[in-house]
Amino acid sequence: MRVGIIGGGVAGLAAAHHLTKAGHFAEVFEVAPFFGGQASTFDVFGGRLERGYHHLFISDTSITELIEELGLGDKLEWLQSSVGFYHGGKIWDFANPRDLLLFKPLPILDRIRVGLWTLILQKTKSYKKFEGVTAQAWLTSHMGKKGYEVIWEPLLRGKFGEYHDKIGMTWIWNKVTLRVASRKGAGQIERLGYPMGSFGEVIDVLAEHIVRQGGQLHTSSSVSKVVESDGSATTLEVQIDGGEPERREYDAVIATTPSYVFTRLAPPMPQEYTEKLEGINYLSAVLMVLVMDRPFTNKYWMNIADPTMPFVALIEHTNMIDKDLYGGKHILYISNYPNRGSKLYEMSAEDLMDLFVPHLQKINPDFDRSWVIEYHHHRLDGAQPIVGTNYEAGIPEHRTPLSGLYLANTTQIYPEDRGTNYSVRMGLQVAQMVLDDASD
Ligand SMILES: Cc1cc2nc3c(=O)[nH]c(=O)nc-3n(C[C@H](O)[C@H](O)[C@H](O)COP(=O)(O)OP(=O)(O)OC[C@H]3O[C@@H](n4cnc5c(N)ncnc54)[C@H](O)[C@@H]3O)c2cc1C
Repeated sequence: MRVGIIGGGVAGLAAAHHLTKAGHFAEVFEVAPFFGGQASTFDVFGGRLERGYHHLFISDTSITELIEELGLGDKLEWLQSSVGFYHGGKIWDFANPRDLLLFKPLPILDRIRVGLWTLILQKTKSYKKFEGVTAQAWLTSHMGKKGYEVIWEPLLRGKFGEYHDKIGMTWIWNKVTLRVASRKGAGQIERLGYPMGSFGEVIDVLAEHIVRQGGQLHTSSSVSKVVESDGSATTLEVQIDGGEPERREYDAVIATTPSYVFTRLAPPMPQEYTEKLEGINYLSAVLMVLVMDRPFTNKYWMNIADPTMPFVALIEHTNMIDKDLYGGKHILYISNYPNRGSKLYEMSAEDLMDLFVPHLQKINPDFDRSWVIEYHHHRLDGAQPIVGTNYEAGIPEHRTPLSGLYLANTTQIYPEDRGTNYSVRMGLQVAQMVLDDASD
């Protein structure tokens, strides 16, 4: 078979790997000058760093198996993480049940209530009963108004901003069960995975395998249209590396772009399917990466539960991963998930720095701008699907209504949330679906 793939992120490359390994031809078009999409990297002081912070959970078995298969298993390390919660001008340890019991901003009875219900959530196997209820409603009624306002609302605001009260309870259920799966032992120590050559190395080696297996990969090459002819939507209008637009024909096409891009590329589709595509919205991610000559805190992950702060989380990469990979420098991600076109999304790197520095000084009064050797600004679109209630019923099918055309994007990952592991799993599954359909 000949399969055209739109998008050279993790899902597109995983699909191409599966197809070429099975002896078929796959051709991948990636509009950016690099592969990896949201998991792509850039160079920092001799090391490679993801544009947006990245780590793996112990439950991320699909990508772990792929990393092993690519011969990079030795580079995947499982490291102890440290979690903080900035509330009321203070950094609280927030990694395990003991930390929750010591978390004074919440009255002790509320702490116990939050702890017990979190435990019950962790033991709950099915998410079906959470489908119709918002996280806000469920958490408030079970863990109390105070517990919701102090702990959960800041976390939801952190990820979903103005949509925080629309998010389905299934999303929280998934996050709670994931984190537990990554904790081990009586001390409930969380371990997170990181490939020591970066996710960029995993992507590079994956790309090498695809090429060796007979696939073709193009960066700086966009697909502008999926063309329907003879009853199937398997022709692509492409522009390869700035060349003349041309048409290429395949037996099947897999699109891995966000839904709002897909609707622009694809031929008209039945209303029911289009409504599903348009019914799920996304937030973008805006990251500032500070490269510093000293550490900012001693935490890897810090949630910012202070609505006056212009960022929602700080991820100090080198508090988990060896700073020697980056010439001994310290790396801090400042993270936000705004709407595309919002003020924060539009701000320049310099303006964001001016905005952030006084707030960083509130968290660490010693912090001085002179600690920052360089900074990098990244915007990632289609970063986080907004996962509302009854989400499952609105997910577009991988098999689109058009013959030969398949969709594999992050809106279709559920009940889990987007993540490299699930993009690998989905890429492999949809590639197999294409092969199965062809053999029917
Ligand atoms: C800030 C941030 C932090 C994250 N942290 C983690 C983490 O810790 N752990 C984890 O596992 N995951 C994490 N993720 C999620 C993970 O990176 C994504 O879920 C995954 O990489 C998505 O891969 P994908 O291939 O499905 O989509 P994408 O990476 O979005 O790939 C789609 C590709 O399609 C390309 N494209 C779009 N239009 C066209 C066109 N017309 N022609 C050709 N190409 C086109 C895009 O350029 C893109 O490369 C994070 C994401 C973000 C944004």
